[in-house]
Amino acid sequence: MKTVVLTFDDGLRTHYDIAYPTLSKHGFKGTIFASGERIGCRDHSEWNKLLKMDKDGFEIANHSYKHVNVCNEKAEWLQWQIKETEGLMSAAGISPPETFCYPGFHVNEDVKKVVDEMGYKLARSGCEYAMEFDDFQRGGSGCAYDPDVHSPFQVPCLGVFGDEYSYVDFVVDLQTKLQDGQVGIFCFHNIGIRIKERDGKTFGVDSSVEDFMKCIEYLSQNKDKYNVVNFRDII
Ligand SMILES: [Zn+2]
Repeated sequence: MKTVVLTFDDGLRTHYDIAYPTLSKHGFKGTIFASGERIGCRDHSEWNKLLKMDKDGFEIANHSYKHVNVCNEKAEWLQWQIKETEGLMSAAGISPPETFCYPGFHVNEDVKKVVDEMGYKLARSGCEYAMEFDDFQRGGSGCAYDPDVHSPFQVPCLGVFGDEYSYVDFVVDLQTKLQDGQVGIFCFHNIGIRIKERDGKTFGVDSSVEDFMKCIEYLSQNKDKYNVVNFRDII
């Protein structure tokens, strides 16, 4: 049995509208990383929806307050950001967060130390251990989390969904890059493409609804091989 964690960055509306009912239908849980300042704005979920998922056993975790690169800022700035989101979660009645996710996957030793000192047990980053992964804005393939190799404060993704990463890559990575004793962690952003353009090409870290459904159906058809848990469950 191999362990898989599905994470959803930013607390988007489609996490509640699409991911939550789909995962629930198959008996799976998932981890939503909420950035305090963005919750309730534009295409993000509201706190009461995050509370409903929390009550249903989904994990609502901390993704900072302002969602900026904190690597070049003072420790106090990150401490404040973590506390702000903790305060908003508490006010909404949501369980205290146990895990963290670095905004924009930006992480360094100073940032890891702050997250550790704030009482968090685990923090997810991106795919930085994978040499072939060079642009987080398109998604890509990373590596499985191996507690014997990686720091719990720099937990890598096996896959970040986006223009460069979809259902086919997900299945290949599960079959070839995930060994016993490791954890395959996947990062989703929006379920349903938000078109962005750069140099005349589309790019982004969103996935289509169809692609997402196929991933969940694959895990459901292979429940004898993969155990889908919340991020905090692997602490
Ligand atoms: Zn994010």
